Amino acid sequence: MQAALARGLAVSGSILGNGSGLTGFTSISREEICCLALKGLSADTVSFSGSPVYANETHNYFSKENFVQPACVFSPETAEHVAYAVRIFNETNCNFSVRSGGHLPVPGSNGKNGAVLLVTSKLKALNVRGKVARIGPGNTWTEVYRETDKVGKVVLGGRIGSVGVGGLVLGGGVSFQGPEHGFSCDTVVNFQVVTADGLIRNANSTSNPDLFWALKGGSNRFGIVTAFDMKMYPLSNVAGGTITYQFTSLQLVLDQVDIFYRLSNPDPKISFFVNVMDAADLGFGRFIEVVLYHGRPSVVVPAALQPFFNIPGIVSNTYSVKPYSELIPNGREGLQPGIFSHTWRSVTYRASGAVNRRVAVIFQEEVNRFRENNGRRLKPGVFTLAYEPYAASMLDASRTTGRNALGLNGDNGPLMLALLTYSWFNQTESAIRTAAVKASVNRMKGYSIAAGKHVDFVYLNAAAPDQDPFRSYGNTNFQRLRNIRRKYDPRGVFSVLQAGGFRL
Ligand SMILES: Cc1cc2nc3c(=O)[nH]c(=O)nc-3n(C[C@H](O)[C@H](O)[C@H](O)COP(=O)(O)OP(=O)(O)OC[C@H]3O[C@@H](n4cnc5c(N)ncnc54)[C@H](O)[C@@H]3O)c2cc1C
Repeated sequence: MQAALARGLAVSGSILGNGSGLTGFTSISREEICCLALKGLSADTVSFSGSPVYANETHNYFSKENFVQPACVFSPETAEHVAYAVRIFNETNCNFSVRSGGHLPVPGSNGKNGAVLLVTSKLKALNVRGKVARIGPGNTWTEVYRETDKVGKVVLGGRIGSVGVGGLVLGGGVSFQGPEHGFSCDTVVNFQVVTADGLIRNANSTSNPDLFWALKGGSNRFGIVTAFDMKMYPLSNVAGGTITYQFTSLQLVLDQVDIFYRLSNPDPKISFFVNVMDAADLGFGRFIEVVLYHGRPSVVVPAALQPFFNIPGIVSNTYSVKPYSELIPNGREGLQPGIFSHTWRSVTYRASGAVNRRVAVIFQEEVNRFRENNGRRLKPGVFTLAYEPYAASMLDASRTTGRNALGLNGDNGPLMLALLTYSWFNQTESAIRTAAVKASVNRMKGYSIAAGKHVDFVYLNAAAPDQDPFRSYGNTNFQRLRNIRRKYDPRGVFSVLQAGGFRL
């Protein structure tokens, strides 16, 4: 290791302007030393400020709030490179962050100024032969679905194609096929993961089974996952698309959501989510989107979804039969990655028409209040309230197949996750918008508690920085996660040296 470090310093002396290897060693940060040692491994994997790779990767985030100025960007090409890096992080005690698709809009969770930024962009394995797909964390879901489409199969992944594989699966993963098969993480049969000791391990039902369980919901606290082996399910074309309604249809849309979840046994091949959008400040007005999925390639709309087509006020409707990769938008028009800053927060409750309606009222009241209080001094933005159902069958399937760390089971379902997002152009407005989102979601939570519907689950992949997803998995799971973390990472490489991520 010392030799690699010296080699890295020698190779990279010119970057620091001294050109002579170890000269200047004491005047640079641990993170810069780390970068130089990594450069000793392979010059192509390390990029510094001023290079095109650095410029691209440091802006490769969904939210502008997450743009970052790391000491360097490290882009490993193999699991061995990652293992080497983890040993360097240990050796030099340097701060680092890990980023896959960069879609978690929690500032600092996937990059920190001055730290080493490890990006998985070159870990692009994508093998869909057989029953299990091997997927590198550097893929987006669009890239994955284009491959699985070719073999008439699907893996459980994101419903927007620009999202990364790494973060979504490690945080749980809600997909259109969830009502049939559970969370995305439930369908992983093996994680290839580099643990704190710099070893490349497999975590599955027979090798390191405790780590296998912990990675299903444990996010970045247990290692760096270099490949996901995920079950594939047969799927040819699907039916689906987005119905957009005038805002005046809101009550009727929410009524249909309620009716759907009061069906005793909704078809697990059907799923949907709802976006209530207020983009009036940008001149796009207020509207509602229902994004529908039917896992059978039939133009005939299933009876359970038909009422959505009968609601008056439809502005547009893209429901049709198509390959799965085409159903999944690769970023939303106007909300493409890296254009807006975003802040979000969520609340979970037992599916309830009354709570859904109240949440919508609170959304409108709070957005109006925000505009009244701040309108003239803040830049225009977009306000989104998403309703994301967790069907009872999804929680059942998860309990049967997954045994994940999330602590949810069929007794809790069906559930509704309400996710409030404020999006805006000006990075300096973060504090005021984050506070407004928090106040609004706290009101929603207050109502769901009063209505006896609240569920103390915080979905990590929809959590705000000050929310506590791991504790929300329940005390038993929380303690178990901590014990497993101590076993595999006694020094705290992934909780102390690694910057960002939720507390465990
Ligand atoms: C537009 C949009 C659509 C979304 N749609 C869905 C959806 O349909 N279903 C759903 O469940 N969620 C969805 N999400 C939420 C999404 O799951 C999370 O934002 C998720 O964290 C994104 O993963 P990523 O790899 O892009 O993120 P990143 O920001 O790169 O990673 C998120 C966290 O995971 C860690 N991490 C990433 N890769 C690894 C790895 N290989 N090893 C160890 N740690 C790692 C990072 O350090 C970071 O803390 C959506 C988010 C957005 C913004």
